[in-house]
Amino acid sequence: MAINRRDFLKFSAGTGLVLATDAKVSAAREKKELSPDAVGILYDATLCIGCMSCMVNCKKANAEPGGALYHKETAGQIPYEYEGEEQKYDAPTSLSDKTLCLIKAYRGKSEKEEGEGEFSFIKQHCLHCVDPACVSACPVQALKKQPGTGIVTYDKNRCFGCRYCQVACPFGIPMYEWEKSSPSVVKCQLCNHRIAQGGYSACCEACPTGASLFGKVTDLQEEAKRRLNLKAGDTYAYPVNHIEHGKTTEQVVPEYVDHVYGLEEAGGTQYMFLAGVDFDKLGFNPKITNQVYPDLTWEYVSHVPQLIGTLLVAGTVTRLVTQRMEKKNKDNESGE
Ligand code: SF4
Ligand code: SF4
Ligand code: SF4
Repeated sequence: MAINRRDFLKFSAGTGLVLATDAKVSAAREKKELSPDAVGILYDATLCIGCMSCMVNCKKANAEPGGALYHKETAGQIPYEYEGEEQKYDAPTSLSDKTLCLIKAYRGKSEKEEGEGEFSFIKQHCLHCVDPACVSACPVQALKKQPGTGIVTYDKNRCFGCRYCQVACPFGIPMYEWEKSSPSVVKCQLCNHRIAQGGYSACCEACPTGASLFGKVTDLQEEAKRRLNLKAGDTYAYPVNHIEHGKTTEQVVPEYVDHVYGLEEAGGTQYMFLAGVDFDKLGFNPKITNQVYPDLTWEYVSHVPQLIGTLLVAGTVTRLVTQRMEKKNKDNESGE
């Protein structure tokens, strides 16, 4: 039995904030497989020039008035994060409730190395795991793996803020709107709303070099393996934007690290990576194995939901009460 936000509030009022979970939570879990129609992104760090067009277009595509990414003066124009009415702003350095897509840069040079040392960009957002830990951890199916596309979507109306998803995600992706009185979990939903209207991911549409490439996951997997078999120094016609749209750009083939990240990691992901620098150096947690993560977390999640749920919900309530008190104090001060 699934419960929604309203059911939960009724339930918690009667029982003292004990988290209600699916009655069959400890039953055996059904493993998810990659759908033949699954869509995703191949990010080739060797093609990325760090222009941040992907970040800008992500904000533009996902910034709705009233939403976390929206800033009325500059929505969708620059990837800065704004703070309150004073309009202090800065380029984001981490994913947040206001930033779903982030470009970071790595430069590595040991003292013994000569020349420039290694350099690479890396693009961070939800990996749309084939069998997502966030989905299996969510007690009310607010996070769902969509049949067909395999996109991991979020339904604010179901979520009651336990934040199991944040704990469960091995990649640290789901963010939370701490500052809002009615907060949501925030993460990339692969531009599901655009795909539903015949479009595709805004970050890939804006990418001028083909570094972020949209398509069917099976096609992207083939493309990634093909690139690893190319000879460094040769030229290759790299597909740009959408693998099915036929647009290409001729580039010299770099030395790739001989690995497609996401083919196997965490049981496989629909967002995959190629790079010229070891993935460990690009911020990928080396402790992430090829194990399907819900298999690791399932026992834990199914045995201690009441305790964690009570703590997290109590934390949220404390936060809300504190926010209201802060607001009341401010209102009182300004009224003096
Ligand atoms: S990366 Fe994290 S948030 Fe995204 S689907 Fe996988 S487990 Fe869920
Ligand atoms: S797929 Fe859409 S939401 Fe996800 S990072 Fe790209 S632009 Fe942002
Ligand atoms: S738009 Fe493409 S090239 Fe520019 S930063 Fe994003 S992924 Fe890199």
